[in-house]
Amino acid sequence: MQNDISEGKVLCLNCRNLSNIGIKQCPICDEKLHQRKDDSFNKTFFLTLAALVFYIPSNYFSMMKTVSLTTYGDTTIIEGIFYFLKHGDYFVGTVIFMASVFVPILKLFVLMFLLYSVKTKSTWRRIDKNKLFSMISIIGRWSMLDIFVMGLMISLVHFEGLVVISLGWASLSFAIMVILTMMATESFDTRLLWDETDE
Ligand SMILES: [Zn+2]
Repeated sequence: MQNDISEGKVLCLNCRNLSNIGIKQCPICDEKLHQRKDDSFNKTFFLTLAALVFYIPSNYFSMMKTVSLTTYGDTTIIEGIFYFLKHGDYFVGTVIFMASVFVPILKLFVLMFLLYSVKTKSTWRRIDKNKLFSMISIIGRWSMLDIFVMGLMISLVHFEGLVVISLGWASLSFAIMVILTMMATESFDTRLLWDETDE
């Protein structure tokens, strides 16, 4: 299989148009052109690794401290999810689980899998891997959902007569993890998946 390097061209990641090397901006859609993003593999690898490190405290430490007349407590994400499930709020519980626990780790595993494919020069199901990357990029744009979920959690806690007095370490870790994941996704160059040519 041929790719843009073997053809002496540069592929636009936005509109898939091929331009001659040396052209800095796509003539079709004005996207900036690089034949490959600088140091894409290493940047994506270290950003993904750092995001994985922050994933742990974001689930382990408390998301917020709450007080009421009778209680004082720290609440982790997982406790928050169980709280909603116990009160029959299955929808809210599921949304928080998806947005805060499942999707973040899924994105990081997908990035690691794609990096592994590049490293091992795998040519297996590359179109599907491209689609997988598009999928996590699209989910990435919904990152605001996480902030929405936190707001929802805080407002429901208020409804129960609790007062949130501070956000815990998990909130900071979670925010850092979300940002690192966005940066890792941005650094990854899908064209790396196609650099190994088929015989
Ligand atoms: Zn273009």
